[in-house]
Amino acid sequence: MQLDADLIGQTVLVTGSAVAARRAVRRYLGAGAEVRTIESPASFRTSVLDEVMLVAAVDDGDDGWAPLQQACRLHGVLLVREPAAKPGRTVTLVGGGPGPADLMTARALDALREADVVYYDKLGPQQDLDLLAPGAQLINVGKTPGHHPVSQCEIERLMVDSARLGNRVVRLKGGDPFVFGRGGEEMAACVAAGVPVTVIPGVSSCISVPAAAGIPVTHRQVSHLFTVVSGHAPLTEQEHRHLAGLGGTIVVLMGIGTLPQLAAGLLAAGLPADLPAAVVERGYRLDQRTTIAELGSIVTAAAKCSSPAVLVIGRVVALGQPHAVQAEIDTLTALLQE
Ligand code: SAH
Repeated sequence: MQLDADLIGQTVLVTGSAVAARRAVRRYLGAGAEVRTIESPASFRTSVLDEVMLVAAVDDGDDGWAPLQQACRLHGVLLVREPAAKPGRTVTLVGGGPGPADLMTARALDALREADVVYYDKLGPQQDLDLLAPGAQLINVGKTPGHHPVSQCEIERLMVDSARLGNRVVRLKGGDPFVFGRGGEEMAACVAAGVPVTVIPGVSSCISVPAAAGIPVTHRQVSHLFTVVSGHAPLTEQEHRHLAGLGGTIVVLMGIGTLPQLAAGLLAAGLPADLPAAVVERGYRLDQRTTIAELGSIVTAAAKCSSPAVLVIGRVVALGQPHAVQAEIDTLTALLQE
């Protein structure tokens, strides 16, 4: 049974050892309750029940708590059972997918639910994080392109220090932690510090954002390979040649700033000017937008496009068109019918 209670200003007694009860304490404080705690059965006096409206009994494995339940019943105080917080001292790198919470894996949602501290940034899901991680302290370490409010080194230090204090630390990343997400560096920092680290993969934008625009990155008889490239810095002439030579789909992340160099480089390397190209901005957000043009004119067509966006270059773009157009027609039809 799940109850949604208004606890603002109410006194809640959380019982159980400090380590086991730490997340329940944060959750009730977060819900606006006045929290009192009793860490061992020996300190429990029934008189405390006169002052509380709810007892949150954390199952810390101590069977000395049995009289508490009876005392609550006799005093007419509501008692809810709480699972003990899992042991800490760990870091989990969690792939948050391309934005919406329902594109996270079940394992990612579990990790958030169990977290003591969540370090997040703006490319990962941010909406309703307080509900997804109700017992956690939420810390924004977001970066905007070219501007680093919290340096990578500092993020790694914060994560390691927090885990060493006994916390279950979640580092929530956009998409998949190991696709241009610096997840590898964060894992290495934990390993170097002797902090146990695990990785929960996520739905990467390199596949899911084209999909949001109806573009399959591979398609039988059209493209049997796709290459994912970072557009963070311009590619070399040799890289353009290799990419063009592969003959498959090219997917570029962080590529808005270097699109002119990329288009010129691929054309110089022999890709045809009429090859379809797409820029999908803000995938899965309400203001998602797809710009489609030919490789020869994509730079002009995408002049007003901004980050975050995924570029797709290849014949699959043309394939995606009818679906994307149909989706648009369906949305408009639905709107007109309302
Ligand atoms: N680890 C992430 C990628 C991080 S690099 C992943 O696997 O998806 C950040 C880049 O990802 C952005 O510059 C943009 O190119 C892309 N991106 C991530 N989410 C996006 C979204 N919702 N819409 C469009 N592009 C997105």
